[in-house]
Amino acid sequence: MVKSKKNPLQFFAFTIFLLYWHPVKPIRASHGEKEIGYDYKKGSKKGPEHWGELKKEWKACKDGKLQSPINLVDKHARKTISRVDDLKMSYKPSTATMKNEGHAIGIEWEGDAGSIQINGTHYFLKQCHWHRTSEHLINGRSYNLELHMVHQSRKNNVAVVAFLYKIGNPDPFLSKMNNDVTSLTGIEKEIHLGVIDPRLIRWPSLRFYRYMGSLTTPPCTGGVIWSVNKKVLTLSKQQLGLIERVVYDHTKMNARPLQPLNGRDITLFGPRWSLQAVVEYLKENPSAVADFDYRRENPRAPQHWGDLKEVWSTCKYGKTQSPIAIWEKNATKVVTSLKDLVVNYKPANATIKNEEHAISVLWDGDAGSIQINGTQYFLKQCHWHHPSEHMVDGKKFDLELHMVHKTQDNNKVAVIGFLYNLANPILLSQSEAEKRPSPNFTDTWALSQPPPCREGVVWHLNKKVQTVSLAQVKLLQQAVFTFAENNARPIQPLNGRQIKLYGDYH
Ligand SMILES: [Zn+2]
Ligand SMILES: [Zn+2]
Repeated sequence: MVKSKKNPLQFFAFTIFLLYWHPVKPIRASHGEKEIGYDYKKGSKKGPEHWGELKKEWKACKDGKLQSPINLVDKHARKTISRVDDLKMSYKPSTATMKNEGHAIGIEWEGDAGSIQINGTHYFLKQCHWHRTSEHLINGRSYNLELHMVHQSRKNNVAVVAFLYKIGNPDPFLSKMNNDVTSLTGIEKEIHLGVIDPRLIRWPSLRFYRYMGSLTTPPCTGGVIWSVNKKVLTLSKQQLGLIERVVYDHTKMNARPLQPLNGRDITLFGPRWSLQAVVEYLKENPSAVADFDYRRENPRAPQHWGDLKEVWSTCKYGKTQSPIAIWEKNATKVVTSLKDLVVNYKPANATIKNEEHAISVLWDGDAGSIQINGTQYFLKQCHWHHPSEHMVDGKKFDLELHMVHKTQDNNKVAVIGFLYNLANPILLSQSEAEKRPSPNFTDTWALSQPPPCREGVVWHLNKKVQTVSLAQVKLLQQAVFTFAENNARPIQPLNGRQIKLYGDYH
């Protein structure tokens, strides 16, 4: 059972402590001050819309122009690759106390629990507490819980790191606190927890939003540096229930409503896109389920693609389909001349998409082009097949990369394929777009292999087999191939097509 708040002074003391903590200041310094409580109830005279009128020290809650929380929208955020200086954590275990302050339950570290560093300034970890529901929104979505880790610099500037949670697997940090939280249910008091390691709080990713805001409780002091982690964590229903029961006697929530952005900048920091980050992103953002399949024993399997849709009938009736089996001995050897394949790529912004049956990188801007016999084809996207679709001299490979190009009028398509075997990792930091085909490549007229199996695609397959690590292939597999073990179309008949092998013959 939850009983009503016995001692409003204690909560106020807690708030003051958060805001004006100073190493020499005793925790209870503000006890003597006259308390005017606040609450989260809709329509209450002490509710969030009135906080700024309750006390003159709380004026910022009403007049502040850069208040928190806000809605963090990816579209409007400036994307930046993070450097170590942007947010560096160096926490350490220290003794802590858990407090139930009526409006919120929190943990205060008494000793030196380490710090975060932002642009060379140390902000020391003072305490953490939970809000239900989340105060910040990510792309318009609210979550079940939000954890605030409150830090303060030697000059008393505040930096808060926030994590959002949804229902799922239990949160290990809260699991460790379960008994303590339970013992605080309905009682405003504190418990000494002993040594608590702040590193038990998972920092799941290096992607976070940064903006300048305020404290989300009175006195709503501004100048707070916010770092809101982008990856949403999970906690169990039981854990959420426990937090609800322990503190929120009236409203079961303690989240301040959204505040106006007022033209503020939001930056989304992220690591350089490693394959791991790509896959994590794609797991969180799957696109619609594909309407064809690679599983052999399936109504949407490759042998049925031509029957699934009228516009896909080429998959069945086409005579120059891909992929094919290439035999070097049957290929016409041609000495490469400059006009056969000229590669002229350049860096451009790209989007990564999970198309369920493959991961694609789509270039938004001008990523350059290739020229084949004077015709210019612009690089549009690349994607991976596992295992390879093409065979060379009777062999399959572990991975095949397709770089898809189109003419200006979109009428003609040219694909360059690269084959990979398991060994060293692909270095994605060295942009795929910068890769040039080796002078040896095969050339054939065929068509792209997923439906609609369009014909007339110019194919170049690089002869040199590169390497990829098992971990990388596994990651790609996990992200996209939810049902099928592979996303490679079976070999199609050659039907008398001529294959040329370009090379540096002397
Ligand atoms: Zn908070
Ligand atoms: Zn492909």
